[in-house]
Amino acid sequence: MYISTRDNYHKVTSAEAIALGMVPEGGLFVPEVLPKISTHEIQSMLGKDYQSLACWILGKFLPDYSEEDIKTCVYGAYSDNFDHQDIAPLVKLDEKKYILELWHGPTAAFKDMALQLTPRLLVKAVQKVHPEQKTVILVATSGDTGKAALEGFKDVAGTEIIVFYPADGVSAVQKLQMVTTEGQNTHVVAVEGNFDDCQSAVKEIFADKATIAAMQSAGMSFSSANSINWGRLLPQIVYYFAAYLRLVALNQITFGDLVDFVVPTGNFGNILAAWYAKEMNLPIGKLICASNENKVLTDFFATGVYDRQREFKQTNSPSMDILISSNLERFLFAMTDHDGQKVAAWLNQLQTEGCFTVDETTKARMDNIIVGGFATEAETLATIKSCFEQYHYLLDTHTAVALKVYEQYQKNSGSQRLAVIDSTANPYKFVASVYQAITGENENDELALLDKLSHLSQTPVHRGLQNLDKKSILHHRQCTKNGIIAEVKNILQL
Ligand SMILES: *Cc1c(COP(=O)(O)O)cnc(C)c1O
Repeated sequence: MYISTRDNYHKVTSAEAIALGMVPEGGLFVPEVLPKISTHEIQSMLGKDYQSLACWILGKFLPDYSEEDIKTCVYGAYSDNFDHQDIAPLVKLDEKKYILELWHGPTAAFKDMALQLTPRLLVKAVQKVHPEQKTVILVATSGDTGKAALEGFKDVAGTEIIVFYPADGVSAVQKLQMVTTEGQNTHVVAVEGNFDDCQSAVKEIFADKATIAAMQSAGMSFSSANSINWGRLLPQIVYYFAAYLRLVALNQITFGDLVDFVVPTGNFGNILAAWYAKEMNLPIGKLICASNENKVLTDFFATGVYDRQREFKQTNSPSMDILISSNLERFLFAMTDHDGQKVAAWLNQLQTEGCFTVDETTKARMDNIIVGGFATEAETLATIKSCFEQYHYLLDTHTAVALKVYEQYQKNSGSQRLAVIDSTANPYKFVASVYQAITGENENDELALLDKLSHLSQTPVHRGLQNLDKKSILHHRQCTKNGIIAEVKNILQL
């Protein structure tokens, strides 16, 4: 069963948790008990393909889904819509560093790893919980989730999807990817505001009783494709198992050796999935939480004080330009042994005062697991260049943040462990910055740069980013941050 991180809701089944998206009273659903997997069982999965691993992990968390349900969802999600048969291939940089490429799905960012699967899980969940209702997916995006969710939900029967993105907070490529999306049930809205404005508005709508009542009488209910939805987080646990087992299969480690994971972090979903894998018994050492100059998490892990009262910076790794990391709430709930009252108090304080401080015990527990670090914009570009020169491997800006933070960590700690660095976007998705990093030239025509970068690096443009300029623009909506609710009502004709 699933419970609320704020101790304010009854227990629900996994289907209910996924259909609801988040706890209606505020708070996030988490499993009441995490499944632990024996070493023997983990070892028995050595050599299995990604789809088999996904069925195995999902089965542990979704007792109200049949084996057949899970298989249908998993094999539908991970097929030739990914351009690599490993789904999430590992690339060796050197003896101690591997890159886990999470961007082989249709939209070139790691969000596809979850969002090709979430809609399938959600549709099954709704069939179990309230089959007569239409599900409206509201998404706040800092750029990558939007397109991945649109692709995942496009023309999925019984769903309508509305995406809000910060008008000036996404790259030209990201924007084009979104506004050219086809499908009868897709809606895309540019918001005059930043990502946190979009996310806060979406959270408010979920908690707005009047809107929810109007939806109910129209036979609709909301859900979320953001990582606040358990159905979005769960698929991400799988690739940590896949990466570890592949390292064993490649004889790079012996089963049981600890491996560190480095995760470029925004909303704390990806790194939280790594922590779940560790809790389930996967031999993971440290989790290294990499931030850009919006380093609220670096400061939090260093001091125990979470303080969002600071300037919001637009950086060259925009998918991590976030000051309120929603999924931290789930981690805090675990670190306090499920003390929902305490977590609720901290999050209320964050909302009203803009900051909170965790107690010593919680801080000490976190220190054992996670270490934070950040990279500046200049360091990010320098890392792209040096990695390309040293390994002839092209990093995107987010992955470069992670590599830089890992290098700092390695230097400070002297760690000899093998590390896996999550690569969360294909370099072509952030082509202007990557091109600038390598050539020193500042050019703004991103579409022209795709070919130039391809020529320069002798690597092909990601297939999800080809021919963007030939597609028609199908979405023109725009609103202010206070106009988001009205926009939703207008789209749904409430
Ligand atoms: C979403 C995203 C992140 C941040 O992931 P979280 O799960 O929100 O921490 C990092 N990099 C890229 C490219 C992303 O799209």
